[in-house]
Amino acid sequence: MAAERKFFVGGNFKMNGDRKMLDSIVENLNKTECGNTQVVVAPPTVYLSYVKEKLSDNVNVAAQNCHNVAKGAFTGETSPDMLLDLGISWVILGHSERRHVFGETDELIGKKVQYALEKGMQLIPCIGEKLEEREAGTTEQVVFGQMETIKNNVNDWSRVVIAYEPVWAIGTGKVATPQQAQEVHQKLRQWLAQNVSDAVSKSTRIIYGGSVSAANCKELAKQPDVDGFLVGGASLKPEFSDIIKARC
Ligand code: PEP
Repeated sequence: MAAERKFFVGGNFKMNGDRKMLDSIVENLNKTECGNTQVVVAPPTVYLSYVKEKLSDNVNVAAQNCHNVAKGAFTGETSPDMLLDLGISWVILGHSERRHVFGETDELIGKKVQYALEKGMQLIPCIGEKLEEREAGTTEQVVFGQMETIKNNVNDWSRVVIAYEPVWAIGTGKVATPQQAQEVHQKLRQWLAQNVSDAVSKSTRIIYGGSVSAANCKELAKQPDVDGFLVGGASLKPEFSDIIKARC
């Protein structure tokens, strides 16, 4: 694993939590120490400022989504400009639930990537194949296609952390084996070398998401091309500390 790729652990709270629950998550995070790991958590939009104010400075806060314009008649949406106004500089884009529950297309995700970067944000774009795509042997084709859209809209890779999240592993308890994760991560890194540059391939963090837990994180973290995790369900539990410390 390259020394320049700092291990990265993101927590995606999805549409979960109230102030009481968030208080206990924040308390746990504030006492979790692992200087070698970058930690970013994504609470629901309404709680972004609440969580940011309580978290210690070494944990960053991300939005779970944003739109691709500054303002206007887009009921229910949040713009990067608004997030930055609140001091939130990170955003998850193209999560599988945005793609498959809310019907976001690659094209829209590309526009969001482009606009959020233009505004100065740091991104966690998500990619990953569905079960039927894996079974049909099209995993590479799917994730490379998603990468192509992202690549066409990225002008600064230093502000991008790619999350590989096989859809069949998200929220299902079915984690990819360390070998399965490593295989795709290694291919994604090779893709970056061939389609962007060697430097970007070596420096870009590729994190894994899909039922990561305290029990499986250590083996996954040993894989040379796994540079961290995006954690859903377990980020709401005390075991999130163990995941943050997977490579401490
Ligand atoms: C996610 O929501 O990004 C995720 C990986 O969820 P879980 O860890 O619950 O599978």
